[in-house]
Amino acid sequence: MYEIGKPELEAIAQVFESGQTFRYHEGATAEQTARFEQALAAKIGTQYALATSSGTGSLICALVGRGIGPGDEVIVPGYTFIATALAPLAVGAVPIIAEVDETLTLDPKDVEAKITEHTKAIIPVHMLGLPCDMDGLMRVARKHNVDVVEDCAQACGGSYGDRRLGAIGDVSVFSFNHFKILSCGEGGAVVTNDRLTHQRAMIQHDGGCVFFSREARETAPPMFAGLNFRISEIGSAILNVQLGRLDGILAALRERKQAMAEIFTGSDKFRLSPVHDVPGDCAVVLALEFDSADAAQEFSKAHGEVCSVFRPIETDRHVYTNWEPIIAQRAHHPEMNPWHKANRTIQQDADCCPRTLDVLARTVCIHVPYQATVQEARELADKLA
Ligand SMILES: *Cc1c(COP(=O)(O)O)cnc(C)c1O
Repeated sequence: MYEIGKPELEAIAQVFESGQTFRYHEGATAEQTARFEQALAAKIGTQYALATSSGTGSLICALVGRGIGPGDEVIVPGYTFIATALAPLAVGAVPIIAEVDETLTLDPKDVEAKITEHTKAIIPVHMLGLPCDMDGLMRVARKHNVDVVEDCAQACGGSYGDRRLGAIGDVSVFSFNHFKILSCGEGGAVVTNDRLTHQRAMIQHDGGCVFFSREARETAPPMFAGLNFRISEIGSAILNVQLGRLDGILAALRERKQAMAEIFTGSDKFRLSPVHDVPGDCAVVLALEFDSADAAQEFSKAHGEVCSVFRPIETDRHVYTNWEPIIAQRAHHPEMNPWHKANRTIQQDADCCPRTLDVLARTVCIHVPYQATVQEARELADKLA
């Protein structure tokens, strides 16, 4: 979240005045969620959008939307929030961890090497707003006939080529929790161009929607047992305001990042990590690549006082080696353990993606200073270069 304030408060007040906090009502006057879904689909450039209660819930709905389940394998990057790997497990499938490269995003070559006859989907994650190599990943996915689920949780509004992130894969998800570019506290969304995927996601997102939604009722094949990942009208009211702020936030971030990147280009201590689409990058961070892990560590220690700096290798739940329940293959019930139901023995230890660990250890990220003026951002870059 970069900005939140009075306009969001006024939007919430309107929801209170209407007395409608639930998205579905008989003879509905509730409109915030429907309005947000239309606006998000228009912004991203997809036919459909479904607002939900979280990014994790959106991933689960997206996988259900594509009919993924027990026995299936889903390839995820070794550098992402753990939720990307938990979602396949929630539908009975197993996550297969693949390497990221210097761009901090999924390496298409390693994805291809890890595809088996059981692979049903890959989940490219646009980490830290950095676009994945979507051409490379789509090529591999189409060649092997597997689905692409874009995880845009950290990359709302970014783009790759002439399309927004989220409009390229078969289905895509967003998160609007506190830490994302747009936020309503907790929230998410699923977007797609495929009607059946949208309808199946919709059923999963509200097992009770059969009573309200003509669209879900008309779904073929027939209704299945869903759950509840609904958003409230309060969340959607906030998101309607937040979405209006998106282009301004991205423009400010990009202007500051570019100013700093120009100065960093001359550094002999590090180089800017490669980015698959520089203008499409959300510009949340500047990623810097060092020759050694020691040099990266030294730099991040030395500059912690003057800016918000972190080494991806130290970011806790975002590195696969810290995904303890996944490495240990523990589920809440032995009879519902997806690894036991898999079509083959899957063994992925802490050393399964050595290149990921090497890259993450040699990389330092600096949060682009949103609150600073462009001149202050330049001065900061001068201190660091
Ligand atoms: C935040 C995040 C999620 C999960 O979103 P929640 O809204 O917290 O459930 C999934 N994937 C990535 C890459 C994320 O950063």
